[in-house]
Amino acid sequence: MTPIEEIKSKIDIVDFVGQTVKLRRSGKSYTGFCPFHANTKTPSFYVFPDTQSWHCFGACGTGGDVFNYVMKRENVDFGEALKMLAERAGVQLSERSPRDALEDERVRRLREITEAAARYWHNLLINSEVARGVHNYLTNREISEQSIVNFQLGYAPESWDALSKYLLSRGYQPKDIHDAGLTSERDGGGYYDRFRNRLMFPIRDIKGQTIGFGARALDELQQPKYLNSPQSLLFDKSAVLYGVDLAKEAIRAHGVAVIVEGYADALMAHQCGFKNVVASMGTALTEMQLRTLQRLAKKFILALDADVAGLLAMQRGLDVAQRTLDRESAPVLAADLKTLEDRLKIDIRVAVLPSGYDPDDLLREDLSAWQSMLDSALPVVDYLIQIVTAPLDLSSAKGKAEAARSLVPLIQKMADPVERSHYLQDLARRLRVDERALLETNTRAPAAPSVRTRGAKTALAPASEKVAFSLEDYCLALLLRHPSELSNLERLGLQSEDFTQSENRQIFELLKSWLDYEGSEPVPDLRDALETVLFGRYEYLVAYGAQYEPINVDEIERAALRLRERVLKQQIERLRFLEEESQRANELDEMQDYRQRIALSTEQLNWTQAAISARSMAGRAQRAAATREKAV
Ligand SMILES: [Zn+2]
Repeated sequence: MTPIEEIKSKIDIVDFVGQTVKLRRSGKSYTGFCPFHANTKTPSFYVFPDTQSWHCFGACGTGGDVFNYVMKRENVDFGEALKMLAERAGVQLSERSPRDALEDERVRRLREITEAAARYWHNLLINSEVARGVHNYLTNREISEQSIVNFQLGYAPESWDALSKYLLSRGYQPKDIHDAGLTSERDGGGYYDRFRNRLMFPIRDIKGQTIGFGARALDELQQPKYLNSPQSLLFDKSAVLYGVDLAKEAIRAHGVAVIVEGYADALMAHQCGFKNVVASMGTALTEMQLRTLQRLAKKFILALDADVAGLLAMQRGLDVAQRTLDRESAPVLAADLKTLEDRLKIDIRVAVLPSGYDPDDLLREDLSAWQSMLDSALPVVDYLIQIVTAPLDLSSAKGKAEAARSLVPLIQKMADPVERSHYLQDLARRLRVDERALLETNTRAPAAPSVRTRGAKTALAPASEKVAFSLEDYCLALLLRHPSELSNLERLGLQSEDFTQSENRQIFELLKSWLDYEGSEPVPDLRDALETVLFGRYEYLVAYGAQYEPINVDEIERAALRLRERVLKQQIERLRFLEEESQRANELDEMQDYRQRIALSTEQLNWTQAAISARSMAGRAQRAAATREKAV
């Protein structure tokens, strides 16, 4: 959770505004006299607990979230409002300090040392006489020269100080070499090389920077067989996938990521032309690893060994997979934006290797067997049903009960009601029992799909409101990829107030002022100008937008128009409500005023909807033309 999200989760807008404005409940919302303009007759100021937002329908005609409220009331900028609210909510804001700059410098130095070590070991493997044995080993494993180069494989010689001496001679400090995870500390003081007589696999992050190593023993008696870099400032094993730098383009292109367990498995897959393969470097997948991939693809195939240990480890891994993906995708899947849902829907499958094979063996033996294994991958829940039921006698009462006990809770945890019902029916059919009987085996109510929790008092936002947030994000994310479209979108009516989330609004306004000042070329890097606390938000949006590339102008325009449409509809709905209220109170002047504004907003809405359908038609015509061209 970012500090902004944390603040919003801790401060309820009704409580907060209610401390300075007398609010009265009115249907789903609260109303009072606007604190920002002379408002004495009909209250025109509204607070909406479901969206945690406020709006003045009187002279101000503006609104926003709790941050905008403080900015307007205290006449401060976003940064000041943030400080005030953080203090109130008891949320710690971290700022970039001179210490952070030192930390950056340290990371840079450790990275340099790590890269130097990778080059040193690689050169030894390629050029040195002492590496002849390991070279033979690689040849026997059918690992090509090209793969050795692509993966920068290396040889760490049988020596306590060969690497240390090399790095010291290049001017690096013993302490830094140790902090990079390359040496171990001697009991009596001093250091010795951590990796000796090993085949070295440099582990690179998604940008291709070396951050650590995996090392395989070359002597049968050597323990452990695999040794990794220790956790360090650079290297976090649980956050990285081996081969991701070389696999990312193929993963994006195929829309599928294949995850294997071992370094050599991933390497061999690439060598055989299956370039969308990465290795989890351990037995259980982690949440952070999946996040890395989720930006690149929506379909994952976990290819794992058939042995029992593998299966058990997988079960743990899958539990994490299911949790991560449910949470990440829930806000999107809850949306009725069909296209968005279709594109983001995530699919995890499990492929089990033939017994006795690891991916490396299978690939070397038979490429078509690898492909057919991938083709036969099962959806994750089908796979779990299979491994749970396989050892049970499903014709016996005991077997049925045990299967139900293990599987029903799993099915009930599924976020999607359609999927949930599908699997319950499926399980009932397999066990030949009644669905209702299955549900009775577990009295716990099905868990609702995760939604953001607000203050305890507030009701959950209705589905249409949740869409608003993701539509906002979507529109802004596309725009950040193509900032020069901004003036175009403004012509279509998009304005900063269409963004109800203050962090989105803030980023939009910054982009706008930047473009007004600097022009659209080169594409600005807004991070320099953003409040530190908005970095995370900005990077999320940029990464989120990246997965839609290539993005055409039409799609950006459509997103902006749809956001406009939603804002206008909401405005009209609220104005109608106010019109009725003033009619009831016999405030005829105000009623007239609301009517005029409804008419104006309706006109804008009609225009916006016409613009949307014009673009949909143009899009369809273009696609049809493209299809015809292909046919010719
Ligand atoms: Zn006002």
